[in-house]
Amino acid sequence: MTRELIDLHIHVGGAVAPHILWAIAHQHGFKLPVKSYFEFVDLITASPDKVASLDEYLKIMHTWTEKIQSSPMAIERSVYEVIGKEYRSSRVTQIELRFNPMKRNLHSELDLDHIIHAAIRGMDQAMLEYGVKACLIFCLAREFDHRLNSIIVDKAIKYRHRGVRGIDLAGTESHALELKPEVVAQYEDLFEKARKAGLKATVHTGETRGTGAEGVIAVIEKLKPNRIGHGIRAAYDEAAMKLIKERDVVLEVCPTSNLQTKAVDGIKELEHIVRTFWDRGVKVTINTDGPYLLNTDMRREIDLVENNRILTPEQIDQTLAWAREYSFIPKS
Ligand SMILES: [Zn+2]
Repeated sequence: MTRELIDLHIHVGGAVAPHILWAIAHQHGFKLPVKSYFEFVDLITASPDKVASLDEYLKIMHTWTEKIQSSPMAIERSVYEVIGKEYRSSRVTQIELRFNPMKRNLHSELDLDHIIHAAIRGMDQAMLEYGVKACLIFCLAREFDHRLNSIIVDKAIKYRHRGVRGIDLAGTESHALELKPEVVAQYEDLFEKARKAGLKATVHTGETRGTGAEGVIAVIEKLKPNRIGHGIRAAYDEAAMKLIKERDVVLEVCPTSNLQTKAVDGIKELEHIVRTFWDRGVKVTINTDGPYLLNTDMRREIDLVENNRILTPEQIDQTLAWAREYSFIPKS
């Protein structure tokens, strides 16, 4: 029987098919640095010879896909297409789609509410067509100041009854400083405000090599998220894993993403990390992160874990059950 899948960690910026972005770019009369479609595909795909780090991966998103998605029409089509594609390719029946609305409004030239309404329209249409469950998560940005991130939290709260279910904190980990407890504490009031308003939270941390588990511990203690994006560095720190378990935090692991951005050495290290979490009772889920940017989809992520015998089929079923249990989408 084909499993119904669930994706908890997928960015709109890395999930729209190149031909859709190409069409949107042309509809908007967008000036592109390449003439042919295939050069464009190359430009917006994180091929292994082009991407050596998380920052290089993020750069492709910021330079091209987020810019092309910056209009009400573009974000509506993007959200609609991502949900439909995940269902058709991988039978993803539940999806939590994340993006930063403030990276879609051309530095305040466009009205943020128009961007958000358009994203909700795209989601609603896809849900109706495919009969799937979906929600939006708004990403705060590490490179934004407190005031801008605070506006994003307020917008998430404003639209929480329209399908915005949570917030995230995303961006570079290149400055290890970003993960220090005192820096993480700068977001404490924002996460508390979101929590009190009934929103859930997830935070990107513990992804890149060299960051250690310090960031994971600081994030759990200060920001109290329900889930953590990646968090793989915690596999090397018993105290961090103990804390993750105690606070019942679930990890959103993204295998191909970690392999492509060199966050892990290779399959062997990925296997070691996932198995360590499993053995310590840390709950993990499998996700795509950016299917088109990384040339993957949910089905292939599950196959990667299954075919490399990182987890057994029964264990994979358990990760899917956790994904449903810890989803930000209400059960009813
Ligand atoms: Zn991510």
